[in-house]
Amino acid sequence: CGIVGYVGPQPALEVVVDGLARLEYRGYDSAGIAVLSGGRLETEKRAGKLANLRAALEQAPRSADGIGIGHTRWATHGAPNDVNAHPHTDGDNRVAVIHNGIIENFAPLRLELEERGCKFTSETDTEVAAHLLSQELKAQGDADLTAAMRAVCRRLEGAFTLVAMSVDDPELVVAARRNSPLVVGRGQGENFLASDVAAFIAHTRDAIELGQDQVVELRRDSVTVTDYDGNPADVREFHVDWDA
Ligand code: GLU
Repeated sequence: CGIVGYVGPQPALEVVVDGLARLEYRGYDSAGIAVLSGGRLETEKRAGKLANLRAALEQAPRSADGIGIGHTRWATHGAPNDVNAHPHTDGDNRVAVIHNGIIENFAPLRLELEERGCKFTSETDTEVAAHLLSQELKAQGDADLTAAMRAVCRRLEGAFTLVAMSVDDPELVVAARRNSPLVVGRGQGENFLASDVAAFIAHTRDAIELGQDQVVELRRDSVTVTDYDGNPADVREFHVDWDA
């Protein structure tokens, strides 16, 4: 339902949770975040309102390393509970993924991954993306999360905005879209992404709308957009001039 991503010098956890609060008007049944803390991937997710997530975060305070992703879920596959809330991770807890939309071909993909030994913890369509990314990274020698995202997207059918981060590249957030919205907010030495500009207009009003079947690599000082084959892609840049 709602998506937020951040790379930059501000406290990532606060930026992400504040961003999710600005997307609350869309409605949701659960909320969650992933950050890197001391180089470890940490997730927290709760069914119910953002207040439940905030309470869980207060119980286990952590500092984030300047990168974070957050999600508010509107369940389509799997009950709205803590386990099915996003982010979803691979078995090794190296990659975290959030997702808006529906991966239509998740059932055969899940079967294939289970046959290869992947252990699933949720009932969501989303979790296949976390395992696929992890398998792709291993196949490439853990090289490149962006290349792995492109390869995974080429296998997915349906409507999705996918966002991923990995412990192996602690200053990178990668996102992709098909039939589901994704916008980037450009800052000074920091960058944002979201399903809706409302999530980041408190920080920047310079935005980029991603086109169909595009992948964006977000770092502190760069935003790189390609198609699913890695070719440079045209994007629409715009300035948000309305008040939220
Ligand atoms: N299909 C996913 C799920 O059920 C994502 C739903 C959403 O867009 O929030 O978890």
